[in-house]
Amino acid sequence: MNEAGRFAALTLEAVERRYGSGETTVEVLTGASLALYPGQSVALIAPSGAGKSTLLHLAGLLEHPSAGEITVAGSPTSTMTDDQRTGLRRSQIGFVYQFHHLLPEFSALENLVMPQMIAGLSRAEATTRGRELLAYLGLAKRESHRPAELSGGEQQRVAIARAVSNSPRILLADEPTGNLDPKTASHVFDTLASLVKATGLAALIATHNMDLAARMDRRVTIRDGQVAEVG
Ligand code: ADP
Repeated sequence: MNEAGRFAALTLEAVERRYGSGETTVEVLTGASLALYPGQSVALIAPSGAGKSTLLHLAGLLEHPSAGEITVAGSPTSTMTDDQRTGLRRSQIGFVYQFHHLLPEFSALENLVMPQMIAGLSRAEATTRGRELLAYLGLAKRESHRPAELSGGEQQRVAIARAVSNSPRILLADEPTGNLDPKTASHVFDTLASLVKATGLAALIATHNMDLAARMDRRVTIRDGQVAEVG
């Protein structure tokens, strides 16, 4: 699948997800299809309970679909082992949540170095990339600060830097600015948007913030368990 000659970084094809069984079955996704392209940010806007978190968990290979196929960086995942899925997730997908989930005992820089060392980089390589990322996000002077010594917006920018520290192709974000005041949210969003363009990430960002959604490349919603494009 491609758009303007580009291959999708992530596709969901006819994905179904139901919880429970028998009379208590909840049908959350009933045939959801979506393609995310490099360098493109897509807003996921839908009412609470529509299935946004479910869709993000499936796209992030954290849950298995009940049916359908999810393809990450060209690799179909339905027949993969859990180890293969975990490997693909670690190398190709970055996550940002509403709350930063940074490790409180470690500095901003150490929070970026650690996932890279787990992925196999040397401390020196991980430190160099961590410093570059923090500088890119305007946090060069904050690298030795612990999360509690950073503002909410700074914490969230570090969380974004951490999410892309292993150079994933795909960024999944669940209300990444939901905990911030409007001005800070706008600034953090600008940071995220420029990173998407600069690195060619494919980003799917669930948000209730319609101003920010309007500034993304595409907007989708979940309607009756399926993904639909919106204005
Ligand atoms: P959103 O993120 O849009 O608020 P969710 O994806 O969290 O929506 O949930 C969609 C629906 O699926 C809701 O009705 C929710 O109650 C249900 N749901 C989510 N996770 C589970 C689960 N583990 N077991 C049963 N039902 C679930």
